[in-house]
Amino acid sequence: MLELRNLQVLYDRAIEAVRDVSLNVPEGAMVALLGSNGAGKSTILKAISGVLDQEEGEVVAGNIMFEGVSLVGVSPSDIVRRGIIQVPEGRALFAPLTVEENLLMGGITRSRADARQRIEQIYSLFTPIKERRHQIAGYLSGGEQQMVAIGRALMADPKVLMLDEPSLGLAPQIIDDIFEAVLELNRSSGVTVLLVEQNAQLALELTTRGYIIENGRIVLDGPSEKLRANPDVQEFYLGMAKGERKSMRDVKHYKRRKRWLS
Ligand code: ATP
Repeated sequence: MLELRNLQVLYDRAIEAVRDVSLNVPEGAMVALLGSNGAGKSTILKAISGVLDQEEGEVVAGNIMFEGVSLVGVSPSDIVRRGIIQVPEGRALFAPLTVEENLLMGGITRSRADARQRIEQIYSLFTPIKERRHQIAGYLSGGEQQMVAIGRALMADPKVLMLDEPSLGLAPQIIDDIFEAVLELNRSSGVTVLLVEQNAQLALELTTRGYIIENGRIVLDGPSEKLRANPDVQEFYLGMAKGERKSMRDVKHYKRRKRWLS
């Protein structure tokens, strides 16, 4: 459904943030894109959403295919209309507006009755924000804000929902609630999800396939269950071993060297 083919992204025509990235998100799937700070995760989402040029970024090679059509060069509003909606890192709510006004902003193209019905569905998915519907979004807790941000994206009835680090800075219980709602959404409405996370443990539990990116390149990918069982992933992303966190690439080089020597 959504496919990146050998994507390369530069910022300021010089800084290579993403290199030769290929990634496949099948219809109805939940796919994780994992990696540490600065690995290139947000850049990939921005490339898909078509908003790179706002930051002097550019797709210089490769392609982004959605339902068989290239998205490179397509305007952000057109990409939204085609059904790809991103919930950005940091949530980007309209802070002075109420919860409900924020939701309505996401459904601006819907009729009043249609928007009303959708809002009620979102409240049943995220019950805590129903009680706060008339409160100012900027005063909500981080978890509630994340619920409003996802709810606002759902107002546009996306085919693909892209979540950029939804767990960032949230308490474990709230993260569970949010991820459970996303899972429910995927199962009941068939919304395809591309989940960007630093929290590899959670992301690999939730998704069926994962990609791990480092320094702009995919270093590992496969079924999430397999990735969870991979000793390198366990050591470097699931914190199951002691010691300083190294790069996956260091491990690979080391293993290659070892194979060479033996
Ligand atoms: P984080 O988890 O911190 O958001 P990330 O994996 O999303 O990290 P990106 O934000 O995509 O990483 O950044 C990838 C690389 O591109 C980094 O080296 C970063 O410094 C660089 N970069 C990101 N945005 C810009 C920009 N607007 N201009 C120049 N370089 C940028």
